Amino acid sequence: MKKLLRDLSYLSGLRDRQAMDFALVKLVAQSDLWCFSAVRLLRAVGPENDQHWVTLGKLDRQHPVPERDHFWFDASRLPRLSDFTQREDAIVTESVVRRGHGPFTTVFPIDTQASVCSLLEVESDEAVSADAEALIDSVLHLYENLQGLLDYGERDSLTELLNRKTFDGAFLRAAQTQDISQDLDHPDRRNVQTPGTYWLAVIDIDHFKNVNDNFGHLIGDEVLLLLARQMRANFRFHDQLYRFGGEEFVVLMRCADHADAVAALERFRRQIEQHAFPQVGQITISIGFAPLRDNDTPSGAFDRADKAVYHAKSHGRNQTCSFTALVASGDLIDTSDGAEEVDFF
Ligand code: GH3
Ligand code: MG
Ligand code: MG
Repeated sequence: MKKLLRDLSYLSGLRDRQAMDFALVKLVAQSDLWCFSAVRLLRAVGPENDQHWVTLGKLDRQHPVPERDHFWFDASRLPRLSDFTQREDAIVTESVVRRGHGPFTTVFPIDTQASVCSLLEVESDEAVSADAEALIDSVLHLYENLQGLLDYGERDSLTELLNRKTFDGAFLRAAQTQDISQDLDHPDRRNVQTPGTYWLAVIDIDHFKNVNDNFGHLIGDEVLLLLARQMRANFRFHDQLYRFGGEEFVVLMRCADHADAVAALERFRRQIEQHAFPQVGQITISIGFAPLRDNDTPSGAFDRADKAVYHAKSHGRNQTCSFTALVASGDLIDTSDGAEEVDFF
């Protein structure tokens, strides 16, 4: 019990999500109160009709150090949600599901956010006792509360997208990962499954002031909320989605190349164009994007994407503009140091 309390106090002091996920998995896997052969922390990702399981942390007898799936894998290659009936049962019934006659599998649902389905899966030779189940359940409640506190600081309260405050840190981590994936000699490069570049896109609703003027601020807020929901459904699990303020959104995404970035953004633009918003009807968005560069700064990359949005706004709106392409065609002048290094043709 002393060890459990020590582990809980360590967990509650963490502010980094990955560190918290690993600490939770370790706490459950390496407790002296029970003996488990494997512990996995999982989350369902992807659009509602095509969800997959991503592993946020796992430990077993062969792997005493926690591991996780990498952020920029292709989600469609992950195990399908529907292939694990006991996990689905735990989520649907919102209660612990027990399977097997030794080895045993016990699945605990985790209630983090309305839009997020997570669970903890435990494998053991013996059935998990009622006392152990109750303790693990309490630990998971604490984990949920800690996640809620992190969300409170990091997320916009209307849309639940990440807020601007968290952008700089995420950007610098992305820029660093990008450097590693492009450095053929870097020892961590073997972990980079899909080479690619990070891209920053700025999305701005067209004539949003008219929505407020014609339908009122509350309906305007609802449009922002629904647009955020569409963003979550459209972009990939590892793309980071922000509300920067007002009716301006930012996506930090990893794509194989320029064409891949255009395809993802155009798909979203068309999806919004075709969506019927309650009362308001059709709205459109303008998008500008730019690739991250070596030694990039958050404000430098944002400015480049923003210039491309500005171009979209002054050329008819409802379109996606690439900073790289606009510089190449002479429509924009790159005033920063160093030219675009991405070959997009
Ligand atoms: P453009 O196509 O040039 O982007 O035109 P716009 O009307 O979208 O842009 P403008 O910057 O002129 O106006 C943005 C409007 O967004 C003004 C403001 O009332 C509204 N707005 C900003 N934040 C919020 C919010 O949190 N809720 C609501 N409902 N409206 C907001
Ligand atoms: Mg606007
Ligand atoms: Mg704006």
